[in-house]
Amino acid sequence: MLVTRHVLAAPSPYATPYYIVRGTNPGPVMMITSGVHGNETASMAAAQKLADDCASGRRVIHSGTLIIVPRVNQQAYAKKIRGKPDLNRTFPRRKSGKSKHPLAAAVFKLAREHQPDWWLDLHEANGLSQLTPRVLGQTLITNPGSSSVPICRRVIERMNRSIPVGKHHFNLKRHELPGSARTAASRLLHAKSITVETCWSLKRAVRIKYQTEIVHHFLREAGMT
Ligand SMILES: [Zn+2]
Repeated sequence: MLVTRHVLAAPSPYATPYYIVRGTNPGPVMMITSGVHGNETASMAAAQKLADDCASGRRVIHSGTLIIVPRVNQQAYAKKIRGKPDLNRTFPRRKSGKSKHPLAAAVFKLAREHQPDWWLDLHEANGLSQLTPRVLGQTLITNPGSSSVPICRRVIERMNRSIPVGKHHFNLKRHELPGSARTAASRLLHAKSITVETCWSLKRAVRIKYQTEIVHHFLREAGMT
């Protein structure tokens, strides 16, 4: 296993580190982004921890390639704000379309170079979906008709089995969101793409734990660990 550190969108005010983890054996490519929204800090911490754990050998990727961009929007992160414009509406909407923001363009260029089979975009949101179905906290979101639907269901089942508090359980949402990283990855790269949303009113350590466990379930589903 080989872990290398790179800088995306350099040199520019948007420069941000990313990591490529190459497993010993060939296999799928998974892209993990976090911090598309700068105030969703537990997801960023989980992504950075995954990169650090791979670098230290605590987490081993046997097969395939993992690309991790832990803090996409550094400027928004520095101010702990969501970011303006909303970066998750600026990804390309069709094959010939362009990103509407240089940072989204840099992320999507990286993705086009590596052609991910999987894309996990880690976020945080308001509310508990178990109590209020229209909120996004504690959900996995995928595009309608995506081949990732049954995989998301398995991951949710495993997560919920390990979460004793029923109202903290995860739910699946199917939603097409033009301009989002998820929908761009699904439409243009035909990746299995999933948005992970923890509820940010839960304790930070718990949110990091949930994000980490969900990523590990998907790595296992992809046959990478
Ligand atoms: Zn978000």
